[in-house]
Amino acid sequence: MARESAPDRDADSSSDRNLSRSARMRLILERDGARCVWCRREIDTERVASTTEHLVPRIKGGPSWFENEMAACARCNRERGHRTPADWIDELERRGLEPDRDAVLRALRLLQQAIAERGGQRRARPYVVSQLRRLERGRPQPY
Ligand SMILES: [Zn+2]
Repeated sequence: MARESAPDRDADSSSDRNLSRSARMRLILERDGARCVWCRREIDTERVASTTEHLVPRIKGGPSWFENEMAACARCNRERGHRTPADWIDELERRGLEPDRDAVLRALRLLQQAIAERGGQRRARPYVVSQLRRLERGRPQPY
């Protein structure tokens, strides 16, 4: 995947891990729009505490790549904890919110593609596959 606009001062073309936090945030907002992927609250980077959210949590082996990050408000980030995207989407929908399922699906597919291109990520791979399967199936199963 070409990424001509990304700064590559240190010539590590394999990832954006050396981008500053604010540069990554800017890229993520450009890709996904300036709102929380979970609650859709607008993210005003000047005023609201905004944060990046890992699709596959670091503790589950998620890489610290741009492709594994989405914009989320601080509240959702905190409340989600280590829940999977599908579990957290189910929970938000139970609360009457409308999380951006499509954006999450799109991000998971891009992450899967990035993993296929770069290799590795043995723990994240099956996590991504199972999340894609659950989200593509649609609505949560009743208990
Ligand atoms: Zn939110």
